[in-house]
Amino acid sequence: TKGMRPVIIRASVYSFLNKIADLAPPVLIGLAVDIVVERQDSLLASWGVVDEFNQLIVLAVLTVLVWGVESVFEYLYQWEWKNVAQSIQHQMRIDAYSHVQNLDMGWFSDRQSGKLISIINDDVNQLERFLNVGANQLLQVGTTALCVSIAFFYISPGVAALAMLPIPVILWGSFLFQKKIAPRYLKVREEAAIVNAQLSNNLSGMETIKSFTAEQREISRLSNLSQSYLLANRSAIRLSSSFSPLIRMVIVVGFTATLIYGGQLTLEGTMSVATYSVLVFLTQRLLWPLTRLGETFDLYQRAMASTTRILDLLEVQPLITDGPSSISSIEGSIRFDNVGFGYLGREQIITNFSFNIEAGKTVAIVGPTGSGKSTIVRLLLRFYDPQRGDIFIDNVNITEFSLHDLRQKIGLVSQSIYLFDGSIADNIMYGNPHASSEDMLEASKLAEIHDFICSLPDGYETIIGERGQKLSGGQRQRISIARAIIKDPPILILDEATSAVDNETEAAIQRSLAKVSKDRTTILIAHRLSTIRDAHSIIVMDKGEITAVGRHDALVSQGQLYARLWAVQTGES
Ligand code: ADP
Repeated sequence: TKGMRPVIIRASVYSFLNKIADLAPPVLIGLAVDIVVERQDSLLASWGVVDEFNQLIVLAVLTVLVWGVESVFEYLYQWEWKNVAQSIQHQMRIDAYSHVQNLDMGWFSDRQSGKLISIINDDVNQLERFLNVGANQLLQVGTTALCVSIAFFYISPGVAALAMLPIPVILWGSFLFQKKIAPRYLKVREEAAIVNAQLSNNLSGMETIKSFTAEQREISRLSNLSQSYLLANRSAIRLSSSFSPLIRMVIVVGFTATLIYGGQLTLEGTMSVATYSVLVFLTQRLLWPLTRLGETFDLYQRAMASTTRILDLLEVQPLITDGPSSISSIEGSIRFDNVGFGYLGREQIITNFSFNIEAGKTVAIVGPTGSGKSTIVRLLLRFYDPQRGDIFIDNVNITEFSLHDLRQKIGLVSQSIYLFDGSIADNIMYGNPHASSEDMLEASKLAEIHDFICSLPDGYETIIGERGQKLSGGQRQRISIARAIIKDPPILILDEATSAVDNETEAAIQRSLAKVSKDRTTILIAHRLSTIRDAHSIIVMDKGEITAVGRHDALVSQGQLYARLWAVQTGES
C-alpha cells in the first residue's frame, strides 16, 4: 500500500460525493410533495419560484443534475477502487513470491508447491473481491448513517431515535457473526489449497499415473478432496446465508417503528406530509444499505481468511541468511572442517566430515547411494547449514559471504535438472543472462550438444516444453552442463551428471569435463567410477563418513569399498 494513500483518499472522496448525491432524491421527493400539497406556499415558492409549473421545472432540473453528479462519481469511485484493488493485489503477489523465494530449501522440502501456489495466487486474488466493493460500501454506509442521522435529528429527534434502534443490534450481530464465520472460511481456504496441491502433483506425474493405469484411483482421490472442499464451503455458506436475512428482520423493526410513529405525528398535524415522506424514504435509505452490510462483512471475512494465510506465509523467517561480506573474485579452494549435519527430525547423516580441496583441482566423491554425497553439495551451497563444524572457501567461512556472491561462484549441475519451458537458448543463457551468443555457442560445443541443437528444425530457438520434457535425459543433462559452463564459475559441481546417459554420451561429457574443469575447482559426484579415474583425488564416503581418500589406482589396490565398487562396475567380481 506504499504510495497509494493519494489514490485511496481520492477514491474515498468520490465514494462520499456519490453517496451524498444518492441521498438527495428523497429530499427531491419531499420537495415534489411539498409543491403539490402547498402549491404557492411551498418551499420553492419562498425561494422566489412562485408559479407551480415553474416549480416543477426547477425540480426536474435539480433531479437531472443530482443524478448526473451521482453517475459521474459512481464511475470515478468504481474506477479508483478497482484500481486500488488491482494494485494492492499486484503488490501482495510480488511481496509474497519474493518472500517465499528467500526461504530456505529445508522449508520448501516440507511444503507442497500446490499449496504455496494457492496462497500466492488464489488467496491474493480473494482480496480483490473485497477490495473491489467492500471499502466503498463501508464508506458509503458510514456516509449515509452520518447524513441521515443529522437530517433526522434536525427534522424529528423522536423518530430518529426509533430509526437508529436496529443499529447497535446489527453491530453486535456482525461481531458475533465474524467470530463464528472466520474459522469456517479459513477451513475453506485450506481445503482449496489441498485440492490445488493434489492437482499440481497429478498433472506433473501424468506419465506415472497412466503407466500404472491409476486414472480411476486418482479421480476418486481428487473427488474425495474436492468433496471435503465442498463440505467446508457448505458449512460456511450455511452461516453466511443467514446473516443478511437476519439483519433485514432487525431493520424492519426500525422501519415500521418510524412508519407508525411518524405517521401518528403527521396525523396529529405536528409533522407535515412532505417531511413525513422524506422521513420514510430516508429511513429506507439508511436501513437498506445496512442489509448489504451483511454481504460486505461476509466478503470481508473471506478476505480476512486469505489475508491470515498470506500473513502467516510472510511471517516465516528464513533460517539461512546472508553473511556480511561481498566478494568479487575467489581462487576456489574448499575446506570442510569437522562438519556434522542431519536433516531436521532425522538422525545425523554427516559426521566429522573434514577434507581439503586445493583451488583448481578436481575431486570426486563416491559412495553408495544415500551415503550423503549430495548433502555435502547442499551444505557447500548453503541450502542447509551444518549443525557442527565449518566450511571455508579461500579460507573464509562461507557464512561470511552474502548468499548471492557465494552461489554466484558455484556452478551446479544437479541430479534433478530443471529446465523451464522456453527455447534452448533461453535455458542455456539462464546461466548468465549477460553472455553473448558466441559464449552460448562455445558453451554448447564444450558440452557437446551444439550439433544436436543444430539438427533441430528451430535450432537454438526450439521450445523444449515444461521441465524440458521434449528432450531426452542425456540431452537435458548436456544442456544443463552448457548452462553451468556459460556461468563460468570458479567452482563447478557435477552431481551424478552422467548417471542417466549412455556410454557414448558419457564419453562426450567426459571430454567436455576434461576441458571445463581445467581452470576451476571441480567436484564430481559420480556413480560410474570410470568417469572419475582422472580426478586429482577421490573421496570415498560411506554412511556420512569418509572411509578413504586417494587416487584411483591407489584406492583400487587398497582393496576396500572402492575396490569392491570398481570390481562390480568393471564386471570383475
Ligand atoms: P547420496 O547423494 O549419497 O545418494 P543424499 O545426500 O542425497 O545421498 O542423502 C543422504 C540421506 O539423507 C539419505 O538417507 C536421504 O534419505 C536423506 N535426505 C536427503 N534429502 C533429505 C531431506 N530434504 N530431508 C530429509 N532427509 C533427506
